[in-house]
Amino acid sequence: MTKRHDVAIVGGGLVGLFSALYLARQGASVVVFEAGDPGAEASGANAGSLHLQIQYPEFVKFGENWARAYAPTLRFLAGSIELWKGMSDDLGEDLAVSTKGGIVVAKTDAQMRAIESKSRIEAEFGVETRVLGQSDLQRLAPYLSKKMIGGGFCADEGKADTLRATPALLNAVRTAGVDIHTHTPVKDITVESGGFHLATTNGAFRATQVVNAAGAKAAQIASMVGVSVGLEGFPLQVTVGEPCAPIIPHLIYSAAGKLTLKQAPNGGLIVGGGWAAQVREGGGLATNPVNFAANMALAAEVVPAVASARTVRSWTAWVNGTADWRPVIGEAQGVPGFYLALFPWVGFSAAPMTGRVVADLVAARDLTVPLKGISVLYD
Ligand SMILES: Cc1cc2nc3c(=O)[nH]c(=O)nc-3n(C[C@H](O)[C@H](O)[C@H](O)COP(=O)(O)OP(=O)(O)OC[C@H]3O[C@@H](n4cnc5c(N)ncnc54)[C@H](O)[C@@H]3O)c2cc1C
Repeated sequence: MTKRHDVAIVGGGLVGLFSALYLARQGASVVVFEAGDPGAEASGANAGSLHLQIQYPEFVKFGENWARAYAPTLRFLAGSIELWKGMSDDLGEDLAVSTKGGIVVAKTDAQMRAIESKSRIEAEFGVETRVLGQSDLQRLAPYLSKKMIGGGFCADEGKADTLRATPALLNAVRTAGVDIHTHTPVKDITVESGGFHLATTNGAFRATQVVNAAGAKAAQIASMVGVSVGLEGFPLQVTVGEPCAPIIPHLIYSAAGKLTLKQAPNGGLIVGGGWAAQVREGGGLATNPVNFAANMALAAEVVPAVASARTVRSWTAWVNGTADWRPVIGEAQGVPGFYLALFPWVGFSAAPMTGRVVADLVAARDLTVPLKGISVLYD
């Protein structure tokens, strides 16, 4: 007989696993299908930034109207970072969560003006970003280049250890009694009376409700039940440097280009910011050397010490992205019981809250963070 669960989750990245954890803790019988290894895609290869403020490159690219339309999402991110802060205790493992703040640094007056405008919009939505002149910036972050004339400091941002997050979460999910099938891609989903039938490489399963947490592949999964989702996969890369003396407590961004820069708990530099990786024949990813060089040059311009640190490796993965950066979270229209759990671009930051809200949705109770104005499904 085909096995039946209350909830089947497609995707064993952080969003799928956090959803599974919170659902199992509220008493649901949950099965997770993961095509490869849990966390082997974006959730295990991201830069570990805990983002809150509106991302500067998108603010400049899309403008103030976009920023106001996106800004309710900051409430969701703020709640998620709160969950991250308690996650080491919750999961029983040190995830090196640290929220010493994030700084966008500027080297021109025009960049400072954009930081000021962005900060005003963030304040309208309850997020404080302090605009700093050069001396305040140097006092806060003396490791920054003296060429930087100021910046915007968001005190609630930070970082967590990507490499430890999924394994710790996976342990907790297993302990909570979730049935996890790794190396088990879902091949098809059909709607049937009372729920869904899932065809996998490990046999057929039935579930009353389905959560689509397939990250960059989510549109493909949604199309199995006739749902169209405006989300695509984008190949990204991150560079990891050798451990060096701890000098950078913050999450650093540059107003001059795409950059995130931080130090891991072992002192290793993690440099990213959304630079594209190279797609190999067959679909695998490789480091794009031109983007690697540009990313590192930007990092060294902002923090000169970066120039003398050796690179040890590069991580690449497909990130789930939407054109307007808005999340797609909620029950799919026309397919009751089929939920979309898709937080684009900064899904590491948002994963715990996405899982929490998915558990609320499935239980049909008030949402921990109401999705109106946040998810495109609640406009
Ligand atoms: C290089 C890089 C750097 C990043 N840096 C940051 C950062 O610093 N901060 C931040 O907040 N965010 C960052 N992100 C984004 C973040 O990592 C992702 O948004 C987040 O991990 C998405 O989690 P997820 O669980 O939704 O998706 P994923 O981690 O992609 O998981 C989806 C899972 O679904 C599985 N799957 C797909 N199809 C099927 C199928 N048919 N059957 C079963 N399983 C399937 C996949 O194998 C995958 O494991 C970065 C992303 C990348 C790639």
